[in-house]
Amino acid sequence: MRTVYLDNNATTRVADEVLEEMIPCLRDVFGNPSSMHHKGAEAGEPLNLARRRVAALLGAQPEEILFTSCGTESDSTAINAALTAHPDRKHIITTMVEHPAVLSYCEYLEKKGYRVTFVPVDKKGCLDLKALYAAVSEETAIVSIMWANNETGTIFPVEEIAKKVKSLGAAVFHTDAVQAVGKIDIDMADSAIDMLSLSGHKLHAPKGVGALYIRKGTKFAPFLMGGHQEKGRRAGTENHSSIVALGRACELAAEKMEEENTRVKALRDRLEKGLLETIPNSFVNGDLDNRLPNTCSISFEYVEGEAILLMMNEFGICASSGSACTSGSLEPSHVLRAMGVPFTAAHGTIRFSLSIDNTDEDIDTVLECLPGIINTLRQMSPFWAEAMAAKA
Ligand code: PLP
Repeated sequence: MRTVYLDNNATTRVADEVLEEMIPCLRDVFGNPSSMHHKGAEAGEPLNLARRRVAALLGAQPEEILFTSCGTESDSTAINAALTAHPDRKHIITTMVEHPAVLSYCEYLEKKGYRVTFVPVDKKGCLDLKALYAAVSEETAIVSIMWANNETGTIFPVEEIAKKVKSLGAAVFHTDAVQAVGKIDIDMADSAIDMLSLSGHKLHAPKGVGALYIRKGTKFAPFLMGGHQEKGRRAGTENHSSIVALGRACELAAEKMEEENTRVKALRDRLEKGLLETIPNSFVNGDLDNRLPNTCSISFEYVEGEAILLMMNEFGICASSGSACTSGSLEPSHVLRAMGVPFTAAHGTIRFSLSIDNTDEDIDTVLECLPGIINTLRQMSPFWAEAMAAKA
C-alpha cells in the first residue's frame, strides 16, 4: 500500500540531501567539538557551517544561534532566560492557542507564583490584540506568542506585536516559530523579536535538534548547566550530526521556500476545495486569508476524528485529529475550544499538513477515499441521525 503522508506539522521525512551530509558526521567526523585534538577541530568546522546556515535562513548573525535538543527546549530556555534576567518582573503573557511546549510551562510557572495572561482568539483563531496590549506593563518579563499555529496554520503578526509590546514596557518578546521557519520569510535583522524557537524535525532535519535565536544584547541565562558548550549558554555535548543536518535543512528551505510554498499551497487548496464540495456539513478552521500554505484544518460535523483517522489509515493516509486523548476522555483540542468551534464539529476535525514531499497523487487518494469514509461513519452516528431528523 502506498503511504500518503499528510502529517508534516507533526514531523517531516529527513530530506535525502540532509541525510547525505549527516552520515559522514556519524561515521567519520565523530570527534567531540570540545576536544583539543584534530578530530575535535574537524568536528568543529561543520558545526560552524551549520550555525551560519541556520542564521542565514533567519537573517541573523551566527553568534545569535544557540543549538538545542528540540523546539520544546528552545521555548523553555527562552522563557526561563527572560524570567531569570528580569527577576523583578513576575508577569508573563502568552496565548490560549500556544503549543503545549509554551502553554504547559506557563501553567507550571503560574502555579509557582507568576502571573500569566493567556490572550484569547476569535472564531478564526486570530488574536485579540486589544486584550494583549491592555495586559502589557512594566511588570511583564516576557511576551511569548507563536508565529504560526500548528493546528490551523493561522499566522500571527508577531513582528508588529513585538514592536508594540516592547514600546508598552515588556522586557522580552519571544516567538515559537517552530511551524513558521522554512514556510515564512523571516528577517531578524529588521525585527523587534528578541528570541525565536525552531525545531529540526519540522523542516526535514531529524528529530532531537532545535535552535534558539537570541538577539545580540538580550540578557540571557542558561537552562541547562554543566559544560561550557555553546559559549556557556547551553551545557551538554552537541548533537553534532543532527546540528549539521539542521544546517543543511535550513539551507534547502531557503533555496526552495518560494517555489515550494506556491506548489504546496495549490495542492492544499485543491484538497480543501474537493473535500468541501463533496462532503456536506464540513468547514475549514483558521484565518483563511492568513495561513501557512501547507496546513488545512477541516471539520466534519457529527463524526469522530479518531474514527476518520483509523479508516484513512486503512488506505495508507496519515493525518492527525483535532482531539487530544487526555486521561482516557477525548477532549477537542485547546485550540479549537479557544476558537469556539462547536463540540459536534471539533470532534470531527482533521488536520492535513503537507510538505515538499507531497504530490497530486496524494491529494487524489484523499479525495477518492474520504467522502466515502465520512458517509460510512455518519450512517453509524446517532448525532448525525438526530441532526438530519431535526432538519427534516
Ligand atoms: N511548538 C510548536 C508550534 C510545535 O508545533 C511543536 C511540535 O509540534 C513544538 C513547539 C515542539 O517541538 P519539538 O517537537 O521539537 O519539541
